[in-house]
Amino acid sequence: MNTEVFNAKTQKENGATVAGRVIRAGGLVVFPTETVYGLGANGLDGSAVSKIFEAKGRPGDNPLILHIAKKSDVKPLWKHIPDTARRLMDAFWPGPLTLVYLKSDLVPDEVSAGLDTVAVRMPEHKTALAVIRAAGVPIAAPSANLSGKPSPTRLEHTLEDMQGRVDVIIDGGDCEIGVESTVLSLVGKPTILRPGGITKEMLESVIGAVEVASAVLNPLGENETAASPGMKYRHYAPSCDVVVAVGSAKTAAGLICREYQKAEQEGRSCKIFATVQTKNYYNGKKYVIIGDRDMPQTLCASLFGALRDESDDTDIIFAEGIPEDGQGLAYMNRLLRASGFTVIKH
Ligand code: AMP
Ligand code: MG
Repeated sequence: MNTEVFNAKTQKENGATVAGRVIRAGGLVVFPTETVYGLGANGLDGSAVSKIFEAKGRPGDNPLILHIAKKSDVKPLWKHIPDTARRLMDAFWPGPLTLVYLKSDLVPDEVSAGLDTVAVRMPEHKTALAVIRAAGVPIAAPSANLSGKPSPTRLEHTLEDMQGRVDVIIDGGDCEIGVESTVLSLVGKPTILRPGGITKEMLESVIGAVEVASAVLNPLGENETAASPGMKYRHYAPSCDVVVAVGSAKTAAGLICREYQKAEQEGRSCKIFATVQTKNYYNGKKYVIIGDRDMPQTLCASLFGALRDESDDTDIIFAEGIPEDGQGLAYMNRLLRASGFTVIKH
């Protein structure tokens, strides 16, 4: 398939118009959002949606998020709008919050993967909104990576995975948030199925107590059913091993230095994801500074890009665990999954 690439800045009108036409005709479009790049199709057309699963190699039982351009567009997609959803939409839409609720008959089974619920989000990114508006339908879109790989946050990473598999790619530069949206289920007690840019604390300030699904920070038990099917699968895995060292900055850095040395003696090529606070511990070792431990959003913003860029000529990446509050929860969720829950501690 020939993939046409548009620049969101210099070919603004053209890119959105062509993308809208392609979506309406049942094709696939990669577009930037504030979280990560999405791989979109007409969310009301089951056979168009099937092409997403094919292009990504995504397991068919992992449902998709419907992206809309205005709040009222959620109405035909759900059975009704619960009051908690209304309050959250007013507080956080447009933005990186996906809400899961009972689906209407309009939503094809391919989107919900046979569940009776559907996930909906209104993104904030101007290009994403322009594409959805031009399409005139909700756009079903997962992250635009091959299944299992880190989500793409930069044009070059979407090209790596999707060139030749989709009709159009829109280049919107780097994604600001860098991790996917927070997924909150409103069926029963409000429960975070996947943490993201909208934190537990932010949600609780609007609707009170919010639970966090145990699979957010733990591997799914053998007989456990996933509240969110995506929890079952290996995610965000780069082409090398990842090891997470937990504890205070000093403890984590100490553990990393010790394990780095051991691995190097075994002939393995190592790299460290350092932070502003810990870089001095790693003198003489190979490291990249990926952000600031006190500002977890900086770590979220660079994690996926760094996992892709630093894994090529490396056997093992060592990264520091951070406290799981605020956006630290989203960071640890992605990092632990990228490592396949390979953790070292004192
Ligand atoms: P992605 O499309 O890559 O951002 O992944 C979407 C995430 O939302 C996956 O982890 C899905 O399992 C989850 N998800 C989507 N729809 C639902 C739903 N109806 N119920 C529970 N989780 C969902
Ligand atoms: Mg994904």
